[in-house]
Amino acid sequence: MPRLTELGGKRLPFLRWSFLRMLLGMKRLTTEWQVGDGREQALGEHVLASARAGDLDDAIRVIDEFSYGRSFMVNVGDEKGEILDAAIRRASPQRLLELGTYCGYSALRTARAMPEGAHLTSVEFNADNAAIARRILDHAGVGDRVTIVHGTLGDGGTTIAALESEHGFAAGSVDFVFMDHAKEAYLPDLERIVEAGWLHAGSVVVADNVKFPGVPGYREFMREHEGRDWRTVEHETHVEYQTLLKDLVLESEYLAPA
Ligand code: MG
Repeated sequence: MPRLTELGGKRLPFLRWSFLRMLLGMKRLTTEWQVGDGREQALGEHVLASARAGDLDDAIRVIDEFSYGRSFMVNVGDEKGEILDAAIRRASPQRLLELGTYCGYSALRTARAMPEGAHLTSVEFNADNAAIARRILDHAGVGDRVTIVHGTLGDGGTTIAALESEHGFAAGSVDFVFMDHAKEAYLPDLERIVEAGWLHAGSVVVADNVKFPGVPGYREFMREHEGRDWRTVEHETHVEYQTLLKDLVLESEYLAPA
């Protein structure tokens, strides 16, 4: 087992059993968004028991330690998390949208990196994950800066309508989007967001997992649209919480309709 002292120094090869167990649960993970061995619930309980209440940094630290030392989690993780943090600081957004809350790790990082007065709305497909994330965010003291919406943009319009009627989404209102949900939904959801008119010139969309598990169609789309309605930077990095598998995070600025 890796030791906590190794955090932040060298990153470790992935945890064999915990990672393999996740691969065995991959089918379930990509349909129901839980691995199936209770690790999401265990993470939530661990954060509430171990992280200092009201301490955002401590909640992030405890999740990273849990993910390195106990159960591999598909959080964006500390290495890719720094890419997300930097993109948020560059964009200085006021209204942020996340697709794929999972247990709330990236929402914690986003709340830490976003400017004062900014608000994140995070959409999660799995109701149990949404509840775990809410508890973690409340415990960390940022429950008022992050709203978690149970749903999906591809549900025929229900969630999009709720975002507009209940959560302030309107034309040109979204400054930053983080995509980290079902990989087959990246492009259709990007299209839904553009069609809803929520973006403005200068809005930024960051996408995780473009190399692993991989979203080749999204990468291809951004390449085809480069310099027309999008301008993209590809960040080479690694899959969360290990060093063997490479990943790509795409940071794309919307240039407005071509
Ligand atoms: Mg991810």
